[in-house]
Amino acid sequence: MRSDPQDYQLVAPGTLHAVVSLLAQEPGAWLPIAGGTDLMVLYAAGKLPQRKLVSIWHLPELCRIEVLPQEICIGAGCTYTQLREHEIIGGEFPLLAHAASWTGGIANQNRGTIGGNIVNASPAADSLPALLVYEAELILVSIRGERRVPYLSFHTGYKTTKLGADELVRAVCLRREFSEYVHHARKVGPRSAQAIAKVCIAALGRVADRSTNDVRIALGSVAPVPLRLIETERVVKGKGMDPTLLTLARKTAASEIRPIDDIRSTARYRSAVASNLVEEFLLRLWTGAKN
Ligand SMILES: Cc1cc2nc3c(=O)[nH]c(=O)nc-3n(C[C@H](O)[C@H](O)[C@H](O)COP(=O)(O)OP(=O)(O)OC[C@H]3O[C@@H](n4cnc5c(N)ncnc54)[C@H](O)[C@@H]3O)c2cc1C
Repeated sequence: MRSDPQDYQLVAPGTLHAVVSLLAQEPGAWLPIAGGTDLMVLYAAGKLPQRKLVSIWHLPELCRIEVLPQEICIGAGCTYTQLREHEIIGGEFPLLAHAASWTGGIANQNRGTIGGNIVNASPAADSLPALLVYEAELILVSIRGERRVPYLSFHTGYKTTKLGADELVRAVCLRREFSEYVHHARKVGPRSAQAIAKVCIAALGRVADRSTNDVRIALGSVAPVPLRLIETERVVKGKGMDPTLLTLARKTAASEIRPIDDIRSTARYRSAVASNLVEEFLLRLWTGAKN
């Protein structure tokens, strides 16, 4: 069924303070809209139940990328194009830059925002595994002030999050401590643009004295939420390359995920691909191979 525009109200107060004031007046009544690339799909399909939309597109407070000595804080309203083109994101956080470059197509990258990807909370979202392995912190803002939340615990279930009804995501902060790491990302989908992942991986690791002294692996599209493979990480941490360990890592990864059959793939295919992606990353980490 088509949506009737007359049923909807869209306001654009123009400042962050005015937006969070509005959210606080009627918590849950107003739905923030940033680039609209998720919400407009729902609207066009007649599946957007919220009728009152408040625009946060181009709010200056949400569009900055602050580079500090210890961390970089990316405004939630930054687009994929901004992420893709930012020198420090490309140099120090390539997993995020890669994810931005293969999200949708160019038009989508000019409009879609990192904050929208986080709050839309699709388990298949491309940038979210990168945020898991970089152990990002989110800055949430409301009229009551700001709070920092580890991204690792932000998703509470399928499409549910810790975001309060009167809160916005203001920024995503990443610590600048990964220059010595191997960064590995891969998206498996039907084509290289305009495709939702069947499975995607973002992984980080560092090897010293031939053993893995830090390793972080996250997968998308294999569970109700973007997933860190904590058990697989534990199995390989402190160890060096060994075929038996690779087999164990594959098995552990397969046991940690909860893939489903859906329109894009099957649980069986996803499970096989997830194990292959984990193995590919570990081989690269241990052999120092280039991507
Ligand atoms: C053609 C097409 C291709 C796509 N391809 C991909 C893809 O390859 N990979 C991928 O991951 N995604 C893809 N998407 C999905 C979408 O582009 C992303 O999820 C995008 O990041 C959403 O950002 P947005 O600003 O457009 O969000 P919006 O649609 O504006 O909002 C999405 C949700 O987030 C909330 N929200 C937005 N910003 C904030 C904030 N700062 N604080 C609190 N809540 C907020 C909104 O209320 C809404 O619930 C695609 C979409 C389309 C239409």
